[in-house]
Amino acid sequence: MNQRADLLLTNGIVVTADQNNTIIHNGDIAVKDGKIIAIGENLDIEADKKESLNRSIIMPGLINSHTHAAMTLLRGYSDDLPLMEWLADIAPAEGSLVGGDVYAGTFLACLEMLKAGTTCFADMYFFEEEAAKAAVDAGIKIIAGEGILNFPTPSAAAPEHALEITEALCSKYKNHPLVKICVAPHSAYLLDEKYLLRSGEISMKYNIPLMIHVSETASEVAQIKEKTGKTPIRYLDSLGLLNKNLLAVHCVVMDNEEIELFRKNNVKVSHNPESNMKLASGISPVPEMLEKGICIALGTDGAASNNDLCLLSEMDTAAKLHKVNKLDPTVVSARQALRMATIDSARALGIENETGSLEIGKDADLLVLNHNLPGLNPLYSPESHIVYAASRREVGDVYVKGKKMVSQGNIVHSDTVSAIRNVNKIISKFEKKIIKTQ
Ligand SMILES: [Zn+2]
Repeated sequence: MNQRADLLLTNGIVVTADQNNTIIHNGDIAVKDGKIIAIGENLDIEADKKESLNRSIIMPGLINSHTHAAMTLLRGYSDDLPLMEWLADIAPAEGSLVGGDVYAGTFLACLEMLKAGTTCFADMYFFEEEAAKAAVDAGIKIIAGEGILNFPTPSAAAPEHALEITEALCSKYKNHPLVKICVAPHSAYLLDEKYLLRSGEISMKYNIPLMIHVSETASEVAQIKEKTGKTPIRYLDSLGLLNKNLLAVHCVVMDNEEIELFRKNNVKVSHNPESNMKLASGISPVPEMLEKGICIALGTDGAASNNDLCLLSEMDTAAKLHKVNKLDPTVVSARQALRMATIDSARALGIENETGSLEIGKDADLLVLNHNLPGLNPLYSPESHIVYAASRREVGDVYVKGKKMVSQGNIVHSDTVSAIRNVNKIISKFEKKIIKTQ
């Protein structure tokens, strides 16, 4: 190897999440131009910068397959309600949002996610161009989806407008280093058939994910059945939307035939257990889907229904929820939960060739967990610690495309204090609205 690296990280416990779940117990990683150029034991490579990991766990940066980042603005705004009542409760505040609010809320979300080891997230909200700008400024990867709904949103007067925004974003961010675009029709209950079909066409035209909430609650399923005579999944199937680009979010209420439809059509699922638990929506049949080989990604959903954006805790919850639900500790293993938040989220978003595992040629999106904290010692199994013991408190360094964005738990390139201050200014606007409507 004659290539000189920009950065050489040495002496780490490397959890690769590659096809064989390889763990290198004393490993080095060499990075050049933001990509991993070598990985293994005792690499003989010159580098401009060398850093010892001192036996810390290093793993792929986490990938949040579904969120509404700007909803950090509404964290704790409305709790302890079922989905439909909760949506109605937050609607007036959401309706008052302007582009700058979405930027500020998303920016804060990006800092929160980076500090929790997340290096990429898929977003569905309004003013997605502002969300994309915030992600770029924060230095995190985004897959941005302008929310498409039947009714006017703060950024789109009609669904046609939201579809136009989506296509404009596809052109604007073609080949951008941090931004990709997805099509984001909210759901079959909030969007009419012709726009669902248009969404599918755009997804095919640009070969990008189509992210949609599906079968989140029993009442949603009843509503769609009444409207179409079919369950939401069968309805989407009748529209020809079940395909490799479909990222079906939630999928709580499903039968075996629908699971088979997903398998047959290579549909991907974003599992958001904490949001499903908080809204008491139910439990997605994840073990059954895993059994069928369906790709399950992990997501937090928005901070208004979670109420954090931490995938470390989401992995822990996912593994434990299904164990207790099935009364079987063998379902959703630590390894499976870890893959859901890394390589399988990447597969679900169509970015598995560039991120999601530590392999030569992929982006150096890296998460280092601090080794010297009581909560991560002693160490028998790195995968076990990542899923069952680590929290965002143990996050040390985080790299996006080889650039250190978090150092020893602290954001490096952004001003966290002013990000919080900006959000608090917006919050005061909501409070005034609440007083007025009361
Ligand atoms: Zn959602």
